[in-house]
Amino acid sequence: MELQKNKDLLRELPKVDQIIKNPAIDKLLDTYPRTLVVEAVRNSIDSIRKGILNGQFYQIDKMQEMVIQGVVDLLEKETRPNLRKVINATGVVLHTNLGRALLSKSARKAVDAVTSSFCNLEINLESGKRGSRYEPVEELITRLTGAEAALVVNNNASAVLLALGTLAKGKEVIVSRGQLVEIGGSFRIPEVMEQSGAILVEVGATNKTHPWDYRNGISENTALLLHVHTSNYRIVGFTRETTVEELVAIGKEGNIPVMSDLGSGFLVELSQFGLPKEPSVQETVAAGADVITFSGDKLLGGPQAGIIVGKRHWIEKMKKNPLTRAVRINKFTVAALEATLREYLDEQGVLKNIPTLRMLTEPTEEIRSRARELEKKLRMLLKVKVDIEVIGGTSQVGGGSMPTAEMATYILACVPENLSVDELAVNLRMSEPAVVARVQDGKYQVDLRTVQFEEIDMLATVMAKVLNSGEVSRR
Ligand SMILES: *Cc1c(COP(=O)(O)O)cnc(C)c1O
Repeated sequence: MELQKNKDLLRELPKVDQIIKNPAIDKLLDTYPRTLVVEAVRNSIDSIRKGILNGQFYQIDKMQEMVIQGVVDLLEKETRPNLRKVINATGVVLHTNLGRALLSKSARKAVDAVTSSFCNLEINLESGKRGSRYEPVEELITRLTGAEAALVVNNNASAVLLALGTLAKGKEVIVSRGQLVEIGGSFRIPEVMEQSGAILVEVGATNKTHPWDYRNGISENTALLLHVHTSNYRIVGFTRETTVEELVAIGKEGNIPVMSDLGSGFLVELSQFGLPKEPSVQETVAAGADVITFSGDKLLGGPQAGIIVGKRHWIEKMKKNPLTRAVRINKFTVAALEATLREYLDEQGVLKNIPTLRMLTEPTEEIRSRARELEKKLRMLLKVKVDIEVIGGTSQVGGGSMPTAEMATYILACVPENLSVDELAVNLRMSEPAVVARVQDGKYQVDLRTVQFEEIDMLATVMAKVLNSGEVSRR
């Protein structure tokens, strides 16, 4: 009996040709290439066939309509870019998984300008001769940091690799045991050291490394004293860290250069906004470090890049290293970085114009008003019962920066009745645009610190859509 019913259904299954003639499908051909449409029709019919074979029941007169809806869904899914917009509702300002820093308006405009036409990437327009792609940013970097010279490479990991390989290949580098950092994505100081050809000499203990530990570690084969900013963890309690300044004094005794990997270098003092006091790039330059490296897309708020500043002698040596060519930056980066750095020339404007700095220094009152706005819009759109409230919470800096910093924030907390909180989180990650938030204390928590004002309407709409439908997403 059951089998007979399945056979009947299979016989009634629409044919590819028949579906293609349907005006609804014909219309799709205006938007999508024919091959994609035909493939989607075939796949949509196939998926219903599989359903029937699995014993699912379909109404015969609805089957054609279902195939067509399947085609629309498949085409939408398939032509959607894999890398796409996400609303960051995690409150983590520098979220490595969500692309770290947002670019300023000026940086986005600059990228557009140099990619939609030819540009003077490597030509000196005055002389007509070959120029350097680093020139547009070098002068700005040295001006802003007080360093003698600068170089920019693909990211900070490659900056560290290049610096170690140039200054200390085949020679010893002294590092404190408290600073053998691992950054996400398998960047570990001992391993990068090995890759660069330098020899790691560990000194001190995890919690305490004194200046005399470094002195005792020095041999005739020592090429570098390395200080690594413990950017993503803190050693607290009974501790002693030897500062860059102290290392510079030790280095001078034996004519040994000092390098500082700052990780998340910043140019604007953030402690005035309640964030922890950490050494800025300018302070590290002033302390006398020979080479300093930091990321372009962490606290600086620019594109992915590894910025190297320091003494001219060492920077020139790095420029001649063939590895520099292998890790060089492209024109998007030069354009975005130049525009980002120009923002820093306006000390007041920079806090508003660089999105990372704006999010880190925004008064909580403004975050609360966005939370209230989202709450109001969402309540208007909801057709089902959802427990919603605006609550206080804390956001994080992220991106392996200032790990102990806690910034007061406002959160829209949601507990739906028709879905579990985890199902809500999945559905919103799979929605268009995708939303990534936190699930904490049994609540779906939308931290408004990282949600832009322009995103509120979109966020309310997509949240309401998911909550109202109450469906568990098909994946
Ligand atoms: C983040 C970080 C790096 C790696 O920088 P990327 O720009 O991600 O390559 C290296 N060292 C430290 C201390 C860091 O914090």
